[in-house]
Amino acid sequence: MYGLSPEDLAIQARARDFADELIPFEEQVERSGGELAADVTAAHAKRARELGLHSTNMPAELGGAGCTSVQQVLVQEQMGRVTNALGWVAATPPSWLPAVATPDQIERYVRPAISGEREECYAITEEGAGSDVDAIESTAHRDGDAYVLNGVKWHVTSFNTADFAFFQARLKGGAHQGEHAMFLVDLPSPGVRVVRTPAYTHTISHHHPIVAFTDVHVPAENLVGAEGDGMAFAYEWFRFERLMVAARCLGAAGRLTEEMTAFAAARHAGGRPISDHGLVAGMLADSLTELFAARAMAYETARGIDRGTDVKVSHAQCSMAKLYCSEMAGRVADRAVQVFGGRGYMRENVAERFYRELRVERLWEGTSEIQRLIIARQMTKRGPATLA
Ligand SMILES: Cc1cc2nc3c(=O)[nH]c(=O)nc-3n(C[C@H](O)[C@H](O)[C@H](O)COP(=O)(O)OP(=O)(O)OC[C@H]3O[C@@H](n4cnc5c(N)ncnc54)[C@H](O)[C@@H]3O)c2cc1C
Repeated sequence: MYGLSPEDLAIQARARDFADELIPFEEQVERSGGELAADVTAAHAKRARELGLHSTNMPAELGGAGCTSVQQVLVQEQMGRVTNALGWVAATPPSWLPAVATPDQIERYVRPAISGEREECYAITEEGAGSDVDAIESTAHRDGDAYVLNGVKWHVTSFNTADFAFFQARLKGGAHQGEHAMFLVDLPSPGVRVVRTPAYTHTISHHHPIVAFTDVHVPAENLVGAEGDGMAFAYEWFRFERLMVAARCLGAAGRLTEEMTAFAAARHAGGRPISDHGLVAGMLADSLTELFAARAMAYETARGIDRGTDVKVSHAQCSMAKLYCSEMAGRVADRAVQVFGGRGYMRENVAERFYRELRVERLWEGTSEIQRLIIARQMTKRGPATLA
């Protein structure tokens, strides 16, 4: 199905087996506030690397798996079958970085991220700037051989596990005054401090603290690309990550559809399996139908990237995939809770966990509203027939 090659099917099968190894840890992680023993997490990360599931998006010449976009989607889809972010060990370092990194940055950040020795986090969003990234107020100014960074960033995912951050700021002074720039900040660094670590809806080991950067000095070599380039990197990252969000949502919806179908066949009410009751059967059928449509869309978007489709077209298609797959997965999770009945409200049940966890897929990497705006803008510019 879906015209997958033997290589595609092989990596998909490896990823599925690995996801099946992770699934038994879910309840334990849920009960322990998202945490697993460090040696267990390290063993999972090692296994992901051995199986070629880590850095699927990174070039082979730098030590990455050098997978096609379709294969990246297939791997992340399987990782999405697992709750509590256990699948994040199959990490995807910033694929936009090698093309713009200096040789020194390649050695200090890119290669170690690919080998799993270093991990990044993104400090872009601020209290007054989320959807509207252009509204950021963080600043960077040149001081001799260094830049001085100031600002307070929100929702910095993985700050507690990362050892470097991408920090986006507005330049103060110089030829590019007011433009955006991106910097690499080693962690910990003097002047970088957690303001607080709020609790979020999901139970995962990666925290999303509010982080203050106060007069943080980074060497000028830590500027990524050139002054004024900051937004271009953010867009490139969004395009990739939106497709990966879509992929993980496919996995979640796939697991839920399998689990609710098995439950509905085994659970009897009124003297027959609940799957024989038309109202329940409808929920099963709608879930698989929407999953089929979503999967076809995400795979075709990835194929387009592999074929070298115009980047603006891919941008809109990644938005469509993210929008549709995340909303589809939310509907499937809601139905799964309903099919499981009272059991679906218990934290030990996969439907309950996904019901909470999938909510954020409609918020991060651009909300559903922002995806709709991007799609509509491209429709009016290029015509709907160019995009779908
Ligand atoms: C768990 C989590 C992890 C995150 N991780 C990171 C991270 O690692 N790094 C990082 O930098 N950021 C991160 N974010 C931030 C995330 O990208 C933003 O929350 C998201 O982009 C939305 O921004 P906002 O929360 O400020 O909402 P707002 O932009 O204030 O939006 C509020 C509401 O208004 C709507 N809205 C806004 N503008 C428009 C418009 N023009 N038209 C129509 N509707 C509009 C939105 O869709 C939304 O419904 C994370 C967020 C969460 C929840």
